[in-house]
Amino acid sequence: MANAYSYACKDYPEMEACPGRFVAETEDEVWKLIELHASVAHGEDPSAWSDEDKVFLKTLIKPE
Ligand SMILES: [Zn+2]
Repeated sequence: MANAYSYACKDYPEMEACPGRFVAETEDEVWKLIELHASVAHGEDPSAWSDEDKVFLKTLIKPE
């Protein structure tokens, strides 16, 4: 079992130039970091993300 999960913002379409990358022990923690990053770095409102967006984003959280 993996003991760390990561998300690289550049894996998201159109975000290739973003250097943001986050590693944490659990997928839930990575998710919080993604929400914070999207809000601060990209001016997004995570509460407005559709279920489809969330499902896709979660596929980008990978075990280290
Ligand atoms: Zn980013």
